[in-house]
Amino acid sequence: MIVVLSKGISTHDKEMVRIYLKDRGFAIRDQVLGDDEVIGATGKGVVDLRELGLLPGVERVAATSKPYELASRESKSADTIVTVGPVKIGGARITVIAGPCAVESREQILETALRVRESGAVMLRGGAYKPRSSPYAFQGLGMQGLEFMKAAGEATGMPIVTEVVSPEFAAAMNDLTDMFQIGARNMQNFELLKKVGVLGKPVLLKRGPSATIEEWLLSAEYLLAAGTRDVVLCERGIRTFETYTRNTLDISAIPVVKGLSHLPVLVDPSHAVGIRAKVSPAALAAVAAGADGLTVEVHPRPDEALSDGPQSLFPEQFERLMRDIEALAPVVGKELLRTPQPSPGRSSSVSIPGATAAQAPSDKVAFSGESGAYAEQALVRAFGEEAPRLAVSSFRAVFDAVLDGSAGFGMVPVENSLAGSIHGVYDLFLRYPDIAMVGELKLRIVHCLIGDEKASIENISIVRSHPQGFAQCREFLDKHPDWQLEACNDTATAVASIAREGATKVAAIAGEPAAKAHGLRVLKTGIETNPLNYTRFVIIARRNGSDSVPVPPSLGSGQPNKASLVFSVSDEPGSLFSCLRIMSEQGINLSKLESRPIQGKPWEYLFYVDVTLPEGEGAFDTLMRELKTKTREFHFLGSYRASL
Ligand code: PEP
Ligand code: MN
Repeated sequence: MIVVLSKGISTHDKEMVRIYLKDRGFAIRDQVLGDDEVIGATGKGVVDLRELGLLPGVERVAATSKPYELASRESKSADTIVTVGPVKIGGARITVIAGPCAVESREQILETALRVRESGAVMLRGGAYKPRSSPYAFQGLGMQGLEFMKAAGEATGMPIVTEVVSPEFAAAMNDLTDMFQIGARNMQNFELLKKVGVLGKPVLLKRGPSATIEEWLLSAEYLLAAGTRDVVLCERGIRTFETYTRNTLDISAIPVVKGLSHLPVLVDPSHAVGIRAKVSPAALAAVAAGADGLTVEVHPRPDEALSDGPQSLFPEQFERLMRDIEALAPVVGKELLRTPQPSPGRSSSVSIPGATAAQAPSDKVAFSGESGAYAEQALVRAFGEEAPRLAVSSFRAVFDAVLDGSAGFGMVPVENSLAGSIHGVYDLFLRYPDIAMVGELKLRIVHCLIGDEKASIENISIVRSHPQGFAQCREFLDKHPDWQLEACNDTATAVASIAREGATKVAAIAGEPAAKAHGLRVLKTGIETNPLNYTRFVIIARRNGSDSVPVPPSLGSGQPNKASLVFSVSDEPGSLFSCLRIMSEQGINLSKLESRPIQGKPWEYLFYVDVTLPEGEGAFDTLMRELKTKTREFHFLGSYRASL
């Protein structure tokens, strides 16, 4: 049983809760669980839970039916997000750790770190102490290896994770590593767990090759009980009768553990499979099954590796895997965590042409809609759960908030894969020349029919949503021709209106987070006509005086590789062709071309163009210069890193 204490509980009240529990036969422990101070009570005591819940300073009581308490979902329903320096593990992100099996030399670990970072890894792995089956195999470089690794982590801005194999090394390693790894062979080395647990550093806890899920979670409990808040579980394959692969990747453990525990779950496909060619498919399966990330072995020259070469990916294979993960992530409602900027939380700047006003001061991200809106889901993906937000009532208000500095960034939809461009937003870019696009994100849209707790589909007579919501659920709505459709500004507003009115005959079409945010029930999920339904959002920021624009910290890796432009051409033969020819000559790929009527000028059109930027700046600069001479009106909306 977990007794969660109120924030700021007095010492006296806390003591009274302790005495209350002890008097009733419980053994008690003070703990910290996420942001909460809790008392863990174990034993065969008898207690009236309601009475306990009413004691001064008691926030709530979570009775756990599992032998592990602090690790259980019953004690903490929200996902734990583990922070390792600038890296977050858990929630809506996929975090990828990569590096060699073992640190072999200063040069090898640095070279690997540079290669994996370039492909998007956010943390560096590598063993300095290697637990090897044979006493004659390479045992690792020990403390010297760890020093090489620390240097490589610092040089590349990546936190490091390394295995601690013995309680006697824990204290000395503590100063050098950012996260401890407890290896599979040591999962039940309880003295090691206790020793590492008290250090309070994040721990990656591998599942033992023959450990049950319950044993694994009990080992996590050891770490949490000893004082670590940040435990990440890692499935790395278990022993079965199958010998083709090194181990058998227990994919089903991922959703099972995520149900039983609030802790993030990573997967190590390298040790699970043991065969290089099979690592990437297993990694993708893990992401599809809901893993919060991966730890992958990569070596610049696997054939020369001193350990686990046959399962280590070539850097090129790792690069390919990262691209596949990026494409897959939105399908499972997640976003690949990009390499954070060196100073997290602060924006860096990149130069863009055509910039004017002063830097926006706020770190809030503005979105249009009520809480639970798709735009809020998108901003959580891009900026993390903790991102401070500003909910406003229209797209225009998002632009205003970014312009007047009440938000540092804004998140607006520009295009849906089924319904096309959101023209109202494109029009705003022309009215707000000081606002630029600085990032892009694609969100999979899964629509639900949402109603009151007491509502049932049979009794619904009115359905509210954004017109795009209706359009995307046409087939479902056609089965209910008697339903009256009421359009709202956005999908989450539709949900909020039902919650406010307590209406049981009205339903809304929106995403599941909107139902959760407003305490309503999902009556039916996945009602969109086509499951390949994605909305492309862009992150906007204000151009500042020094010709630069802030870049969102979470999307800051690498140079921009995509740009959006709007232009009009003169009404004569070949004028559009001459613009497109410049792109063709500069080797610039056109990823979108759309024409829109110019408001107030009948039968004149603006062209909306997205281009992929070639390596190096020259070609794009030439394009911009030449396009300006060939067009009547020309707007550069921004350049950013393309989302796949
Ligand atoms: C490792 O990650 O280097 C390792 C030895 O893994 P495991 O403990 O899962 O075998
Ligand atoms: Mn290994």
